[in-house]
Amino acid sequence: MLDVALLGVLLAAIAIGYGLGYRQATRRRQRAQSSAAPSQALSRDYFLGLNYLLNEQPDEAINTFINALTVNSDTVDTHIALGKLFRTRGEADKAVSIHQNLLARPAISQHTNEQIQLELARDFMALGVHDRAQRLLNTLLENSSDDHHRYAAKQLLVDLLEREKAWQQALDVIQPILKQHPPMRRPAAHWLCELALEEISEASRALAKKHLKKALQLDEKCVRATLLLSELEMDNGHYSRAIERLNNIPDQETAHIPTMLPALKRAYLRNDDEAGYEAHLYRLLDQAPYTSIIIALGQLVHHRDGVDKAIELIGERLSAAPSLGGLDYLIDLYIESQRLSGKPSPDTRLLLLKHHTDALLINRPRHRCQRCGFASDGLQWQCPSCRYWGTIKPIIGVEGE
Ligand SMILES: [Zn+2]
Repeated sequence: MLDVALLGVLLAAIAIGYGLGYRQATRRRQRAQSSAAPSQALSRDYFLGLNYLLNEQPDEAINTFINALTVNSDTVDTHIALGKLFRTRGEADKAVSIHQNLLARPAISQHTNEQIQLELARDFMALGVHDRAQRLLNTLLENSSDDHHRYAAKQLLVDLLEREKAWQQALDVIQPILKQHPPMRRPAAHWLCELALEEISEASRALAKKHLKKALQLDEKCVRATLLLSELEMDNGHYSRAIERLNNIPDQETAHIPTMLPALKRAYLRNDDEAGYEAHLYRLLDQAPYTSIIIALGQLVHHRDGVDKAIELIGERLSAAPSLGGLDYLIDLYIESQRLSGKPSPDTRLLLLKHHTDALLINRPRHRCQRCGFASDGLQWQCPSCRYWGTIKPIIGVEGE
């Protein structure tokens, strides 16, 4: 289908080109040196393009318009914009040929040349030709003295290295500019977490710990680093230290309390301290009345004091902080209570309610990216949609926590 934005730019560009050609031809006429040939050629292509458009041949129309648009200092920005439009349309190969054609022009300034190189690197990345993009960006970083272009090149290079999972290389690129660009500290902390995971898989726990401590120095709110450090403590049998680490998470990010609950439970139960776990859950509940905490408490009371005590606790807590997940759990407890009381089968009204809560909860995402709204069931540290790190969090509210 015809891209309205692309044609809009092209038509505007041709109109400008037509005007320029006309002005040049007028000057030439005034000097009585030549006729208005460029203007005529331009107008011929312009009307040929329009003819293609009217015949619903958009590709031919676009090609004719591009041919009509000569490259000069007045139109170079339009050519760059056209390349970008082709890339966003998914036609990065056409963008490459436009940008390479521009780079071949000798009269282009150093500033514009670097701008085109950045665009070309983006084209190669869109085509998945990472090695060519990387070479182009490295050359730009070696030769450019423009801070703005250098930063743009570093951002693109880091994006590329992230896609290649070259975490250490990405850190090497960004390390020297972290002071001037504090927002880069968060992704850098996650790259250190990725490196720590690689070290853990190779049984180098000491090195993993070093990476994770560095991650927290870069970003003190890095919940992931805290979680991994607590896992390392648990692996070494240091359960109290693991709990101490986990205790920092509500201050780092309250919304991640549900994320830490499985590790908290493991640390207390391995330490044979159920009472400590219960007290900790109540403390967390005072900070944030999330469904996961209420259910964790319900499971603990259910296991220790029986189903009816759990029903009492959950009913009371849910009246203060109602949620769909909590209601579903409460219905499960009621069904079990009826079974235990010797009823041959649970109340059909309860089963109907359970059917409804199951239907409402099925396929419901539990996490959402705070930046772009991407929703998923499990937690991902890098959003697959906007590619930001640490922006996906548990969903809070009646339908979530
Ligand atoms: Zn996102």
